[in-house]
Amino acid sequence: MPEKALTDRFGRTVNYVRLSVTDRCDFRCVYCMAEEMTFLPRQQVLTLEEIARLARTFTALGTEKIRLTGGEPLVRRDILELVREIGGYGLKDFAMTTNGSQLPQMADDLRKAGLHRLNISLDSLDEDKFRRITRTGKLSQVLDGIDAACEAGFTGIKLNTVVMKGRNDEEIPDLVDFARRKGIDITFIEEMPLGEISEHDRGEAFCSSDEVRDIILQKHDLVATTKDSGGPARYYQIPGSSTRVGFISPHSHNFCATCNRVRVTVEGRLLLCLGNEHSVDLRRVLRGHPVTDDKLRETIINAMDLKPERHHFSTNGEVQILRFMNMTGG
Ligand code: SAM
Ligand code: SF4
Repeated sequence: MPEKALTDRFGRTVNYVRLSVTDRCDFRCVYCMAEEMTFLPRQQVLTLEEIARLARTFTALGTEKIRLTGGEPLVRRDILELVREIGGYGLKDFAMTTNGSQLPQMADDLRKAGLHRLNISLDSLDEDKFRRITRTGKLSQVLDGIDAACEAGFTGIKLNTVVMKGRNDEEIPDLVDFARRKGIDITFIEEMPLGEISEHDRGEAFCSSDEVRDIILQKHDLVATTKDSGGPARYYQIPGSSTRVGFISPHSHNFCATCNRVRVTVEGRLLLCLGNEHSVDLRRVLRGHPVTDDKLRETIINAMDLKPERHHFSTNGEVQILRFMNMTGG
């Protein structure tokens, strides 16, 4: 039993934590980063021990699910050590979101280190378009990474696709077919206004989940599943296949009422909501109280009162949150 479950002012239990382990990345996806990025100096980034201490403390406070993200978690040098450590905490679910570029050489080790699940981002199956979206990414590496993850024995692999009109919306049916062939799930995400971007107008590129669903329905039936994903995605089954298609629609279908999660940035800022700036500096507590976890526990418990009722994203492309997604941890 946890020492104390985390509950907010609206009666929501928080049992899911996303930890960002780096702000760095080998890609520069147009919706996530600027082309020229300045990354944080090392002393501002949490150490491996500090991240593990946070994970342990959250677990003691009832966290059942941890996801490692970034930036690109697999470019952090000591990532396997961290996975091994957290893999030993007995979590119900221990997952990672990755761009997949390092999976060809790392999938097997990650599985052996105790990671349960992988979400792999894939926005295009066309080499040139993939390059234009990620700026620096190589499609074949990611496709090899997906195969490596399947071969390493990961189950519940999920692809994440951010849909943008004029960039990859015409590939939606192909991406669904690809997921079907691989026997994995795919989730389509509406782009969120995080950070100032230069290469497309978010308002013009916005493609709602309903539009994506209508495009898929021209080729496949979608049967709503009753299974609760425990997250913001709504899932549909393609009849005759194991593949589920999910939609994350921060704009068109608000999911805040059932939000069970918080995020910790790579600098140790506890974010209570992706769409709000409320945060609590856990790094100061970690470094100011290196011996016992009492103060850390108390700070996390009290922070729950700051969790806002909902986010307020607009679809006109206006930036409402200045931090980029790589800082936040997607
Ligand atoms: N580098 C890893 C990756 O790409 O999977 C993990 C971090 S990335 C920030 C996590 C997820 O956030 C990715 O699926 C990415 O597509 C998504 N993402 C980034 N910026 C976004 C935005 N502005 N709106 C919606 N999703 C975004
Ligand atoms: Fe890197 Fe992921 Fe952001 Fe793309 S979405 S730039 S892969 S952190």
